[in-house]
Amino acid sequence: MRGALLYAPGDIRVEDRRDPTIEKPTDAVIRLAATCVCGSDLWPYRGIESVDGPAPMGHEYVGIVEEVGNAVSAVRPGQFVIGSFFASDNTCEICRAGYQSSCVHREPMGALGAQAERLRVPLADGTLVATTDTPSADLVPSLLAASDVLGTGWYGATAAEVGPGKVVAVVGDGAVGLLGVLAARHLGADRIIAMSRHETRQNLAREFGATDIVTERGDDGVARIKDLTEGLGAHSVIEAVGTQESMMQAIRSARPGGHVGYVGVAHDVQLPGDELFFSATHLHGGPAPVRRFLPELIDLICNREIDPGKVFDLELPLDEAAEGYHAMDERRAIKTLLRP
Ligand SMILES: [Zn+2]
Ligand SMILES: [Zn+2]
Repeated sequence: MRGALLYAPGDIRVEDRRDPTIEKPTDAVIRLAATCVCGSDLWPYRGIESVDGPAPMGHEYVGIVEEVGNAVSAVRPGQFVIGSFFASDNTCEICRAGYQSSCVHREPMGALGAQAERLRVPLADGTLVATTDTPSADLVPSLLAASDVLGTGWYGATAAEVGPGKVVAVVGDGAVGLLGVLAARHLGADRIIAMSRHETRQNLAREFGATDIVTERGDDGVARIKDLTEGLGAHSVIEAVGTQESMMQAIRSARPGGHVGYVGVAHDVQLPGDELFFSATHLHGGPAPVRRFLPELIDLICNREIDPGKVFDLELPLDEAAEGYHAMDERRAIKTLLRP
């Protein structure tokens, strides 16, 4: 099969890889209908995270089950399924509490490489959620978004306690931030402030439900949020970047007693304890337990109540994955969908 490999920073190649097979009775093998490039794939691509190449890439996937191990009972060959970036049993105490991305048996899907024609999915019963019928082709991008960026934005909104009556600020205008806006809208927020300096992203944020756009960053961005909230700060802040600047912008944009849902993968973020103490904010986040939200998100998509697939503004054949990475790296594309 064909699959994307990262050899070194900036060097993505699509090559022949060994076909996945059932290795454990709890595995499934799926044929991908679509896969994509994640903002988090750009960290090793940019050399900010070290690469031990050639490394398989990709952790976002939807497709048709081809084969299952003999211990798998919840999904069967022929079904259209969606999973997330950690395989999870969905039965341990941590999973049952809704934190499947920290499952005691979790396995990272990125190591298996979902930017490929086929993929082995461990713990298939816990990991995969099947749609009722094979979805029509135009729903596939939205279902693929549910595999990570929609579920992550949803978790960011949930962790930030978004709800009716709340003013929400969203730090980050990548796919996760934009879908955090969509989640906040769906969860009933009164006012949603998207922080973005890019016109196409601002337009999509508005389409997803943003009521205000703030173009300033850092302390100036915080000052604008305070201006818009009678000096108090937002009730809920979704942090969807993962840098020192974005995390501090998020914490400083929240009002005392407010909530920050942080879902940008943290890179060298240091929190000053004294400032945190006096901020009196709640911090909750981490790797999104996307599996918790998948059944609800799949229903909303299949009923055409939400259209998160709009974040894909570039679609390429899998063999052109290198251009997909390049376009996202240069911020020419919000998110690249790859067709195997
Ligand atoms: Zn991802
Ligand atoms: Zn578990």
